Amino acid sequence: NKQVILRDYVSGFPKESDMIIVDSTINLNLPQGSNELLLKNLYLSCDPYLRILMTKDTTSGIGALTPGSPLTGLGVSKVVESGHPDYKKDDLIWGMTKWEEYSLVPATGMFKIEHTDVPLSYYTGILGMPGMTAYAGLFEVGTPKKGENVFVSAASGAVGQLVGQFAKLTGCYVVGSAGTKEKVDLLKNKFGYDEAFNYKEEHDLNAALKRYFPEGIDIYFENVGGKTLDAVLLNMKVHGRIPVCGMISQYNLTQPEGITNLAHIIYKRIRMEGFGVFEYYHLYTKFLEFVLPLIREGKIAYVEDIAEGLENSPAALVGLFSGQNVGKQVVVVTHE
Ligand code: NDP
Repeated sequence: NKQVILRDYVSGFPKESDMIIVDSTINLNLPQGSNELLLKNLYLSCDPYLRILMTKDTTSGIGALTPGSPLTGLGVSKVVESGHPDYKKDDLIWGMTKWEEYSLVPATGMFKIEHTDVPLSYYTGILGMPGMTAYAGLFEVGTPKKGENVFVSAASGAVGQLVGQFAKLTGCYVVGSAGTKEKVDLLKNKFGYDEAFNYKEEHDLNAALKRYFPEGIDIYFENVGGKTLDAVLLNMKVHGRIPVCGMISQYNLTQPEGITNLAHIIYKRIRMEGFGVFEYYHLYTKFLEFVLPLIREGKIAYVEDIAEGLENSPAALVGLFSGQNVGKQVVVVTHE
């Protein structure tokens, strides 16, 4: 059973060598009386929060990974053997599994995959946690209205590409930022953003935002934090909203960057609200009813970046923090 093991806690930027691939033996039978699931893992989801879990003494409250053990994370898997009455052999599910070929996991918190006319890998992204994140963060926290001005950072990524399109479907004016020309082109030509810019080429982010939002921003969907957030605060409209989804620019810093313009939260009466997708999973069925028709009718675009094989998973995960991924980063463990 090939596994991806976390070597030790990580400080600073993660490296491929923070993870090692090992081959171990696994007993492919469920222990007697166990109500767990034995899974064959098909697709694994590379998510930025995994870096937060690699830190020792995490204060985030979202848990920690264990050095010497395989990484845990979201994936799409096939049930090989089930000790739980809700699941049977050959069921397809998505949920928390481990970065290895076969896993023994608790059956709780798993989602059964009912719709298989769409690619299975989509359940790591548009039909899984990142899709729910975009949906809940934009609609539940951001509460967009037709005609409002929306800015999205990390706009071409797993969450960002969907936020932008959901906002366009709502009738908003939408601008995104991303880190390469290729991604900016995708934003404008594939995801239907009204405007997009490369934040790495803007010496003055405040001036860039003023260019695209002369009347200010109603909703900033926050994925990156740091300098982008600081510039956004200067450009928010009165009663603007900032759903705080993530702050990827801060996850690898031992000393987080200071934000100088926080007082604008008062001046503009901004509502800035952090959220965790796991508090919105009760909306999952409603979300599928919303998003599946959009996929089937070709009304939403979705871009994945596929890494083949567990041996390429450390590079795929680490690549999130230098923007190597174009779209949702997925690892294929096996196609069947
Ligand atoms: P992405 O697919 O967007 O991949 C990460 C991207 O972040 C990279 O491709 C890169 O794009 C950008 N990035 C990396 N480092 C920096 C940096 N220093 N400054 C600016 N941008 C950077 O990831 P996800 O869509 O999966 O996640 C997006 C955000 O949402 C993350 O912050 C994540 O933690 C958060 N999240 C939060 C959830 C919640 O429940 N609150 C759930 C899921 C995700 P580029 O080339 O454009 O720089």
